[in-house]
Amino acid sequence: MINLRDLTLKEMEELIVSMGEPKFRAKQVFGWIYKGKTDFREMTNLPEVFRQKLKETAYIGAVEPLKIQKSKTDGTRKYLFRLEDGNLIESVFMKYKYGNSICVSSQAGCRMGCCFCASTRNGLDRNLTPGEILSQLMAAEADTGERIGHIVVMGTGEPFDNYDNLSRFIRIVNDPNGLNIGMRNITVSTCGLVPVIRRFGRDFPQVNLAISLHGTTDEIRGSMMPVNGKYPLEVLIPACRDYTETTGRRITFEYTMVNGVNDSDEDAHRLSKLLQGMLCHVNLIPLNRVAESGFDTVSRKRAEEFRHLLEREGVVATVRRELGADIDAACGQLRLGKKDIE
Ligand code: SAH
Repeated sequence: MINLRDLTLKEMEELIVSMGEPKFRAKQVFGWIYKGKTDFREMTNLPEVFRQKLKETAYIGAVEPLKIQKSKTDGTRKYLFRLEDGNLIESVFMKYKYGNSICVSSQAGCRMGCCFCASTRNGLDRNLTPGEILSQLMAAEADTGERIGHIVVMGTGEPFDNYDNLSRFIRIVNDPNGLNIGMRNITVSTCGLVPVIRRFGRDFPQVNLAISLHGTTDEIRGSMMPVNGKYPLEVLIPACRDYTETTGRRITFEYTMVNGVNDSDEDAHRLSKLLQGMLCHVNLIPLNRVAESGFDTVSRKRAEEFRHLLEREGVVATVRRELGADIDAACGQLRLGKKDIE
């Protein structure tokens, strides 16, 4: 059985034509699916015979929330979803002045092994399909009754380690016949898989790119992120410069600040040298505490000082506002503890 939420409109047209139906039916089905319908009987402008045929080969796979945690302070909601095969994933709904946003997971688990991140602790279970990535958004819209206009692919998983499904996900949510979410309202965050960064710049020049940097020397970055062994700074940074030059788009560098590891004045100085003249912006994230990681966060005050040092040397930076802290929904905290399943 085919999950129709896994298909781009083009793929759905191919499927429907192969079933002996006219191509325009695909647009109708696609439209219904992204209006939230999961039952073919509700697709009232389709002939009964066609609906029957569809039911025999395809279905519309949704993800069911097992648990929803609501922040008491800022409207953030954290979702725990169960997938068809029993795997569990998490997403976070956030309210901003410019509208609602969702942080989605791209994999069940992660194999990148960053030492300060909770999501990678148990390794990778499997890639999520395009439909599983976008169903997180649809389930949150159904739960909140609100429209979600922005997507950040910053939940569990390394999106560039699941690139084919990520690309189809972007094409599906961007389609004007469906959710119609603008490319510029989507942000993808990567730990730095250089060949995919280059490909992404060609495939999706309008989608925002965020790079998890976190360290200014190979020694420091390598101690936090194993991926640095394969793609050290001397190949990552030129790929980023090329990206900004070919796309004309600004890169966001995420810099998770860890006390005594990457938060010194020299770090700030090296960071501004590394990024000098690049079309970019640095997002400073004071480490969110993850039990048993052994790492310590920095004060808000230190993050502000660091920001100031960067700005003095011409690098634009902000300190990330923390949302959903009271429900462990902040960056790097998406991980299934026992308490989630109880
Ligand atoms: N794999 C992708 C996207 C997921 S992580 C990536 O690496 O970019 C999203 C961001 O949260 C990354 O910048 C990641 O390094 C950061 N992060 C992970 N654990 C964190 C923690 N405990 N505190 C603060 N930020 C964290």
